[in-house]
Amino acid sequence: MMRVVHTVAELHKILLPYWRKGDPIGFAPTMGALHDGHCSLLRQSRADHNALTIASIFVNPLQFGPGEDYDEYPRDLQNDVKIAREAGADLVFAPSVAEMYPRGFVTFVDMEKLTERLCGAHRPGHFKGVLTVVFKLFAVVRPNHAYFGQKDYQQSVIIQRMITDLNLDVKMHIMPIIREPDGLAMSSRNAYLGTKHRQEALVLHQALDRAKELIGGGEKNVKKLQAEVRRLIGAVKGAKLDYVSIVHPETLEDVNDVSGKTVVLVAARFGKTRLIDNVIVD
Ligand code: AMP
Repeated sequence: MMRVVHTVAELHKILLPYWRKGDPIGFAPTMGALHDGHCSLLRQSRADHNALTIASIFVNPLQFGPGEDYDEYPRDLQNDVKIAREAGADLVFAPSVAEMYPRGFVTFVDMEKLTERLCGAHRPGHFKGVLTVVFKLFAVVRPNHAYFGQKDYQQSVIIQRMITDLNLDVKMHIMPIIREPDGLAMSSRNAYLGTKHRQEALVLHQALDRAKELIGGGEKNVKKLQAEVRRLIGAVKGAKLDYVSIVHPETLEDVNDVSGKTVVLVAARFGKTRLIDNVIVD
């Protein structure tokens, strides 16, 4: 039977025996509006023989900037619970905002450098919100294994950095990007897209595919690769590019040429919907 709990106290009661016995807990934090990308994380947790697989569903106000989509973000707990159960979750933790951030809350996890690049440059404070909520969720769940998606590549890098820097006893697993049949990376935000933008958004995956193909063919010149991705996305009327970056997989610093493992990342807006995608090349 799958359980849904809303408070840290309830969760503590259920988890105490697992912590005591050292039975492994697998955990996938989400903001809900679950899709197959989220399910892939829960399925992996089960496949890894965790004694308990937990999904959290929490639309974290701290990681939304002013004017972003906190209010519009899709929320449907009943449906999410059903999806999480089918994907193999044993427990859904769905706290309220007051449960996570009680009155008087003033402590945050912040990080330099890695959070200032890419999406951090376009969404000030975003990663501080992400790090703070993930740290808190790790503290209340105490997972042995945590599952994240490569879709949010920069997020996975900064969370791994936090785990290392703060000596958290969690093993991080980064799962491949799950896509729609036509290539669009699955995202809860895809629900915002009208027919026209939904079609136009395909260009992100197509442009990354093209970059990968060029790199596979021996192109190492970052400027040329960026120009090609920009050209493809620029040709789509509804797309407004935030960035196309070609970076080192761990430092997220721009590379001068593509040699060894490298990540190509894009972020673009289609109307008010901001989408991201990336590809790792080796
Ligand atoms: P979110 O609910 O958007 O905060 O995402 C929760 C987790 O699911 C994060 O670790 C995401 O990287 C992961 N995720 C989101 N979309 C995908 C996807 N298309 N494929 C794989 N993982 C994903």
